[in-house]
Amino acid sequence: MEGALTARDKVGVQDFVLLDAHTSESAFLDNLRKRFRENLIYVTYPLSQLFSSCGGSLPAFAALSITYIGTLLVSVNPYQELGIYTLSQMELYQGVNFFELPPHVYAIADNAYRMMCSELTNHLILISGESGAGKTEASKKILQYFAMTCPMTDSLEIARDRLLLSNPVLEAFGNAKTLRNDNSSRFGKYMDIQFDFKGIPIGGHIIGYLIEKSRVVYQNHGERNFHIFYQLLEGGEEQLLAYLGLERDPQLYRYLAQAHGASESSMNDRNDWKTVSNAFAVIDFTEDDLENLFGIIASILHLGNVCFRENHQGCATIPVINEIKWIAKLLGVQPSALLEALTHRKIEAQTEEVICPLTLENSVYARDAMAKAVYGRTFTWLVNKINSSLVNKEFTKKTVIGLLDIYGFEVFDKNGGEGWEPIQYFNNKIICDLVEERHKGIISILDEECIRPGPASDLSFLEKLEEKVGKHAHFQTRKLAGPNGRKRIGWMEFRLFHYAGEVTYCTKGFLEKNSDLLYRHLKEVLCRSRNGILKECFLAAELENRRRSPTVGTQFKTSLSSLLEILISKEPSYIRCIKPNERKEPSKFDDFLIRHQIKYLGLMEHLRVRRAGFAYRRKYEHFLQRYKSLCPDTWPHWRGPPAEGVERLIKYIGYKPEEYKLGRFIKGFIHRDKPLCPDNEEFV
Ligand code: ATP
Ligand code: MG
Repeated sequence: MEGALTARDKVGVQDFVLLDAHTSESAFLDNLRKRFRENLIYVTYPLSQLFSSCGGSLPAFAALSITYIGTLLVSVNPYQELGIYTLSQMELYQGVNFFELPPHVYAIADNAYRMMCSELTNHLILISGESGAGKTEASKKILQYFAMTCPMTDSLEIARDRLLLSNPVLEAFGNAKTLRNDNSSRFGKYMDIQFDFKGIPIGGHIIGYLIEKSRVVYQNHGERNFHIFYQLLEGGEEQLLAYLGLERDPQLYRYLAQAHGASESSMNDRNDWKTVSNAFAVIDFTEDDLENLFGIIASILHLGNVCFRENHQGCATIPVINEIKWIAKLLGVQPSALLEALTHRKIEAQTEEVICPLTLENSVYARDAMAKAVYGRTFTWLVNKINSSLVNKEFTKKTVIGLLDIYGFEVFDKNGGEGWEPIQYFNNKIICDLVEERHKGIISILDEECIRPGPASDLSFLEKLEEKVGKHAHFQTRKLAGPNGRKRIGWMEFRLFHYAGEVTYCTKGFLEKNSDLLYRHLKEVLCRSRNGILKECFLAAELENRRRSPTVGTQFKTSLSSLLEILISKEPSYIRCIKPNERKEPSKFDDFLIRHQIKYLGLMEHLRVRRAGFAYRRKYEHFLQRYKSLCPDTWPHWRGPPAEGVERLIKYIGYKPEEYKLGRFIKGFIHRDKPLCPDNEEFV
């Protein structure tokens, strides 16, 4: 009917592949907007072309804007509770082919689960998007889905509970309120959920990547330190706080007060403290563990309050030693040794050790370096501790579903070296090479500057960059026009033209952050600590090893390549999270912001490849195993090569040649996050 608004006009299509042939970014955006406004999704799947039994029916369904593109789900953060994560919703998606129901994170989870069970393959759900887009929420929903819907035995209930409760603990120590997200993950997380052959979740394993240690001592204006500090102060029992020597008011602690982000009504630290305390009990933390752990958290707060004064010789002194006493008690170290290590430095001169006093600036640096090192290693300890409670040695044969929650892309007020987000790696080869190529990339150049004899500085690093990568199309040092129109160079900044946008990095402090130096003197004190956790974190052997430990940049590079090893061995599905507005508001759809995300999440590219008609892809063996019963030649057994069997099967069913393609698999496609091209597929 002309002029009448069809359902499609009003609420858009649920499957992007059904948009008109040459979908523009604008049409894509319009479609997202329509559904976001209505909270409704219409179902048609490209698979209906393949499985005619679906008959193209379009069940209506109320939900938030989540849309599949094949095994890719786009999710727009609704910033409100939509009531779509109920038990009955979970039941609805259980065991249903994903083209039979509207898109949902549960459908992605269920699809991966069923494929894992039927094909005994390992899967991976890769969740990406910028800060505040909903990655962590999506990963939690998936975990809950498995916890509630998978078969279970009494003896394995504890494994399930621990998997679920690892989240609040890790979030307390690894998440913080930022300007973009009240619960921003400040570490990258990969989690394996392990299942036995019956599909029962039996355990898990977590890898944490690059916790943002600098947040412990510095936060941008309006942001907060890690949640745990506030939770402890707000929720901790009187007796505990007295034992730790803490007052309730966060404003009394320098590491919490400086950024004015603490007094936020949106945070519910007291309730969260209860959740975390309960989680600790289930995950098997002993009284001793907790005493040591909170001893560390409290001593970081005390450490931040250590003040230095300059004496007549220009050396740092600590006039009030109250804090030192508390730290010494809680960490089990000698107060005098700690005091000396914060104000002096040991220098090895040929045969003897000389103790030199530190300047005020160096002492502040040493204090902050200690806080960062202690927090960073405690976080690693925490992840290991959780892992030891998730491990299940009884089952040797298991399959896994991995969940990867990658940092959001962010342009900080101050980009000081924490900006190497893994998301770049997946999207962005040219920039990746520029940053991490051996001998030639920015990280290598930085490492070289850190170890080079002679005076190296943030300035000399920038000059090296200019010399070595200055001509790169995606790189620029920022040049400011000086007085009198003369060109003066603002040498302390460089710019990278990332896929997602332009980021300016201030090189001030780059060398120091990359080396992440903890003065040896302080390390010695920590290695002698009687705090049970620090004992495990600072091993005496470290003092004997005089080799430089790898730099932050290099550690990151190494952990990223081992992550890639983990990823390429699994069958991926993708969740692309979109943030609708910068104000954390429901119902506000910011076109400009979303268009930008559509672009850098590569959604148009994905759509184009999917539109080519290869929305469903399986390995020959798996396809044959699943559908061999449909053809007398392949049922009950096909003895020849699987590819031939598949060919026989699909010819028998009567697919036209243009409806499928047979191809070869090229390993490594996941590196670039590019779906396979038709001519190199192994899939049907
Ligand atoms: P970061 O990279 O900073 O960790 P993120 O992508 O993990 O960001 P989340 O913490 O998952 O972002 O989401 C930010 C906030 O958005 C949540 O705290 C929640 O308030 C809201 N939110 C996200 N997803 C949903 C959802 N599906 N339903 C309702 N609210 C949501
Ligand atoms: Mg997160």
